[in-house]
Amino acid sequence: MVVSAAREVAVNADLLTLPGGLPSGGALCGQCAAAGPTCCTLSPGQEELCFPVSDMERTRIVEQVGLVRGAFTPQANSRAFVANLARLFPRDRDTLARLFPDGGQHLRLSVDSAGNCVFLRADGCSLPSPVRPYYCRLFPFWLAGARVTAFASPDCLIHRQGRTVHRMLALLDYSEAGVRELHGRLRLAWGLPPKEGMPFVTPSLVRFRP
Ligand code: SF4
Ligand code: SF4
Repeated sequence: MVVSAAREVAVNADLLTLPGGLPSGGALCGQCAAAGPTCCTLSPGQEELCFPVSDMERTRIVEQVGLVRGAFTPQANSRAFVANLARLFPRDRDTLARLFPDGGQHLRLSVDSAGNCVFLRADGCSLPSPVRPYYCRLFPFWLAGARVTAFASPDCLIHRQGRTVHRMLALLDYSEAGVRELHGRLRLAWGLPPKEGMPFVTPSLVRFRP
């Protein structure tokens, strides 16, 4: 079933900034990077809204590409940050408040003075796709309940060429099942229960050790 772009591409791209390129989006994301600012570049002042990198995701990067000095930055759990996460996971607000308590910190990717992710190069992300943080690997896709959707990101080349989630997935030779699996892995890496709205049973602050 083809659904209109207006309905399918429904999630605001500004929810968590600095998302990154998708696994098989290499060619398109490379073109995007060559053309100008991509989703891997933060606007000045938006650092606090960057998505978190869990300890497991950080360890995987360090193990695969070596210790990259200054690649990760401790960031305070601000209210704006937690509120943004809650927009992504509206049924997990209580869990998010426990994972990212006031006064605590989490890690995010470092950016240079122009806002570019430390791993961004002229032709795109320098990290091998399987090593990238889950949020990078998912972008521009997301789940709204059980439905695969996409961030409304007008500057994203994948979005501009695909227009609908169905065509965007096809452009990347990517499947809804793949999006669901990555989303589930991201939930676990970030300390969220496997399904939205499930009770939070295990404190997981170590997942965001600065
Ligand atoms: S890790 Fe790679 S994909 Fe993710 S924001 Fe940085 S450059 Fe982009
Ligand atoms: S904005 Fe879209 S096309 Fe550009 S790098 Fe990010 S995911 Fe790829």
